[in-house]
Amino acid sequence: MIEYSDIKRVASAAGFDLCGVTTARPLVAGEVAFREWLNDGYASSLEYMHRNCEKRFDAARLVEGARSVVVCAVRYKLLQDKAYHAESRTKIASYACRRDYHKSVKKMLQQMLKSLQTEYPQLQGRAFVDSEPLSEKQYAVEAGLGWIGRQSLLVTPQYGSALLLGVLLLDDEVSRYDRRYEGVGCGECRRCVDACPTNAIMESRGVDTSRCISCHTIEAEPHCELDLGGWIFGCDECQLCCPYNKNQTDSEGEVYSPEFLPSEISAEEWLAMSEEDFALRFGSTPLKRSGLRRIQQNVIKNKGV
Ligand code: SF4
Ligand code: SF4
Repeated sequence: MIEYSDIKRVASAAGFDLCGVTTARPLVAGEVAFREWLNDGYASSLEYMHRNCEKRFDAARLVEGARSVVVCAVRYKLLQDKAYHAESRTKIASYACRRDYHKSVKKMLQQMLKSLQTEYPQLQGRAFVDSEPLSEKQYAVEAGLGWIGRQSLLVTPQYGSALLLGVLLLDDEVSRYDRRYEGVGCGECRRCVDACPTNAIMESRGVDTSRCISCHTIEAEPHCELDLGGWIFGCDECQLCCPYNKNQTDSEGEVYSPEFLPSEISAEEWLAMSEEDFALRFGSTPLKRSGLRRIQQNVIKNKGV
C-alpha cells in the first residue's frame, strides 16, 4: 500500500500545482450522462468520442489491475485581452501559445512514478495525458480537485479552469483517498453561457461541439460553417469570463510561459508563411496538431485579409 503523503510529495516535486487521489472505480453516472450527450448528437464530427466509452469511465478497464487514480494538474495563465488587438482576427487559445503540454506533462507523471518506485519497487503504473479515452475531468472531480463547469471544463476553486491535466494509474491501493468535490461549483453563475459567441454551451451543462469554435478550428473538418469570431486555433472566451479565472497571478511555478503572443502575427503574415517557417516557429506548440494549412483556412474564414 502506498502512503498518501508520498503521492502528494512526489507530485509537488514533479512541478504539479494540484494532485488528487481516488480509487479506480467505474464512474457510472458520468458514463450515463456522456452516452446521453453522444446520443443527442452533440459530439458532431468528433467521431473518436464514440469509441471505447466503457473504458473512458472505468480506469480498471483501460488498464487491467489499476487500483488507484492520481489526477494531477499544472496551471497556466490565460493571455487575457492584452495579447490581442481590439479587432484581432488571428486569436489563438492561450494554452496553444506554449510548448505542447502532452509530452511535458507525461514526463512529469513518469518522473512521479519513478520516484514512487524507489520507495515501492513493486509498484506499476501508467501515465496518460489526453491520449487515451479516459475521462480525466470526471476522475479529477472524484479526486476532489473541483467540478465540471457549465463550459464542460474542470474548474478548481484555487486556479479556475486554466489547467493542464494528467493522470497516473497505479496498480496498488493508497493509504487514504481524497473526497469527491462537494463545493458550490458554478452556483447561479452562467457567465460562460452568456459569453459564448456561438451559443454552444447548453443550460443542461455540456457543449454542442457542432457550434464550438474550438472544435471548428482544431478538430476534424466541421460539417457546417460557423462565425469563428477572430479565433484561428481554439477559443478562450468561456474561460476569460469565468470568475474563478479572474485573479490569476503570475505564478512562480508556471511551467509553461508563452512562446509567442498571437498579436505578434498578423493575418497577412499567417497567409504568407511557408511550411518550413511554420515548423521552425511553431513545431513545439500544439499548433502543429492542426498544421499550417488549417490555420490559414481559419484565417481566411475570419476574413482577416
Ligand atoms: S470554446 Fe468558445 S465556442 Fe466553444 S464553448 Fe467555449 S466560448 Fe463557446
Ligand atoms: S463562468 Fe460561471 S458558469 Fe461558467 S464555468 Fe465559470 S463559474 Fe461556472
